[in-house]
Amino acid sequence: MSEPDDISPDAGGDAEGETHGAPGARPVVRLKPRAGRRFFAGAPWVYQDELVLDRRTRKIPPGSVAELQDAERRPLGLVAVNLESGIAGRLLDRDPQAEIDGAWLRGRIARALALRERLFEAPFYRLVHAEADGLPGLIVDRFGDACVMQPNAAWADARADEIAQALREVAGVGTVMLNAGSRARGLEGLQGETRLLSGALDGPVEVSMNGAVYLADLVGGQKTGLYFDQRPNHAFVARLCRGARVLDVFSHVGGFALAALAGGAASALAVDGSEPALALASEGAKRSGFGERFSARRADAFDALGELGEAGERFDVVICDPPAFAPAKSALQNGLRAYARIARLAAGVTAPGGYLTLCSCSHAADPAAFRAACVRGIEQAGREAQLLRFGEAGPDHPEHPGLPETSYLKALTFRLDG
Ligand code: SAH
Repeated sequence: MSEPDDISPDAGGDAEGETHGAPGARPVVRLKPRAGRRFFAGAPWVYQDELVLDRRTRKIPPGSVAELQDAERRPLGLVAVNLESGIAGRLLDRDPQAEIDGAWLRGRIARALALRERLFEAPFYRLVHAEADGLPGLIVDRFGDACVMQPNAAWADARADEIAQALREVAGVGTVMLNAGSRARGLEGLQGETRLLSGALDGPVEVSMNGAVYLADLVGGQKTGLYFDQRPNHAFVARLCRGARVLDVFSHVGGFALAALAGGAASALAVDGSEPALALASEGAKRSGFGERFSARRADAFDALGELGEAGERFDVVICDPPAFAPAKSALQNGLRAYARIARLAAGVTAPGGYLTLCSCSHAADPAAFRAACVRGIEQAGREAQLLRFGEAGPDHPEHPGLPETSYLKALTFRLDG
């Protein structure tokens, strides 16, 4: 489906100005005059309304590789086409002669792997972070001998087996899971199920990070099983935790709580709405050797914060890392209100002189807007604060310089008044 040869040359009837090549050649998509502003500024995307949408172009099956041309028909590179997506062309290679084959995939994955091997001693990390690693829409998290891939763009979905093969060859992994759970797939019109492409998985996988043992469920868990992106923020918060009573709200499998306990926290209470996630957190605490200092409460986070506050409970270190409250621009105002509310409730259970970390993984809430929402909530709680640190995702989640909006994770650590 993604092979250029699949685009059969149309039998006659070419309207003036239609994009085409020789029979059997790669399809061509062409920018309208003066279109492609972001592309020419370095973004690896062209939008649907920037392309000449003639009859041939409309027939290009999603996931096909096409040559991108400017309005004067000069080649600009190869793009993965999906006219069902607003991002109709994703740049694969600036070389219009490149072959997007197994060797090309292996080359890209090897380049991604080299960075992670430089950054980490153990093979547990985000191995491929989409556009920033030259593999648009493709996410791969690595857990030792297993990889979980999310092919969130049509080209990657169509080539999932080839990508899995390249991962096995380059990274030497045996097990490859295809995770079809990402919201991004809907925007690309992709269907399909989460399934094992190769190897076997025997229960949750142990992952050592920041001195703790986490358990990641690669099959039924959220996201790919673990939030590697928070690793440097877990580490920073852990530094504040010696002897502290810690409250980790939206804990998942104990992201902040277990790092805090490894950092010497006196106790950590993890709150999450998911029982399976908390069961993994408890098991992780046990295997880390600090099970007796860990406790979990399954509850709605807003309810739990309210109840803890009313009961007069106070914690020296509080972390709130909710799911994206503003997943899209349309949800931004409601999302910011929810972040402010979390900040107010969380500040209410933070002890005098304690530390409060507030996170957001919403693309739509930019750093300034999120910070303002947090400050508003803290003020509503009647607290004064210092902002100690503005954390982002770790370096195994690199950013494409031309796509500032793909920077999504924000983790603000405040010290509250004594
Ligand atoms: N802090 C974690 C990642 C959190 S992901 C880490 O560092 O690894 C967000 C978590 O919020 C998920 O585990 C999800 O189950 C939980 N969640 C979502 N909505 C919730 C709610 N209303 N109340 C409690 N937990 C919720």
